[in-house]
Amino acid sequence: MPPLSRCAVHTITTKPWDLATAVAKYRDAGIGGITVWRQALEGTTAKEAGKLIREAGLRVPALCRGGFFPAKDAKGRAAALDDNRRCIDEAAEIGADQVVLVCGAVPGIPLEDARKMIAEGIAAVATHAQAAKVHLAIEPLHPQYAADRSAISTMKQARRICEQIDLRHEDGAPVVGIACDVYHVWWDDELEDEIAIAGAKGYLHGFHVCDWKAVQTDMLNDRGLMGEGCIDIRRIRGWIDRAGFPGFYEVEVFSTRWWGEDQDRYLAEIVRTYQEHV
Ligand code: ZN
Repeated sequence: MPPLSRCAVHTITTKPWDLATAVAKYRDAGIGGITVWRQALEGTTAKEAGKLIREAGLRVPALCRGGFFPAKDAKGRAAALDDNRRCIDEAAEIGADQVVLVCGAVPGIPLEDARKMIAEGIAAVATHAQAAKVHLAIEPLHPQYAADRSAISTMKQARRICEQIDLRHEDGAPVVGIACDVYHVWWDDELEDEIAIAGAKGYLHGFHVCDWKAVQTDMLNDRGLMGEGCIDIRRIRGWIDRAGFPGFYEVEVFSTRWWGEDQDRYLAEIVRTYQEHV
């Protein structure tokens, strides 16, 4: 059973709670970390949020999210770079280890072109992340999102971008790495190998868990809590551990159904299913 101190919960998971409530509830449950979604910063600043979180004794594995690099014109691509630099600054202020990148895709832009824009976009903001001492984590998304959310669908595609950029922090760690989310990559027959390669190269920046339900009523907001679906999460976590991953196991669930439940009861279920399935 993984220790709760290695569990982090994404604020989006308990979306009905504001940031202060989420911080207090996670801390009281014994959870070690909180990954902050930028919309949870509404009404506060990244600096104030960072202070609140530190005072509660929680760590911040990640700020979600940057990315969305492809655009039909140069103006759109430049705007994306500006937003990513702002996101990196917020991550530094909040004390987050990394910015998660949902890389983007635009209907009508061929995937090959979108991938080129993504690699160029990440390269363009990587030095900013290096200066801010923040990591960037490319999150490959399930191919069901290749039309409009991410032209990067696999760990291998993400790794190739990491290898192209090859920029390092002072401690030698690659600035650009990968956030491995079981929901997006569990189906990939190269997953075990790619996790091992990413670990060996220092690219494993994040590990997200939830579950894949065989029947989903919504493409975005009907993810399963661990154990509600068909992913062998514990097996994948074993691969992650063998690859030497030292970070948090982050619970990230978008679920209209769970957001409609009593959130205290839900958090107790998150803790129980984390201990049973991760
Ligand atoms: Zn994720």
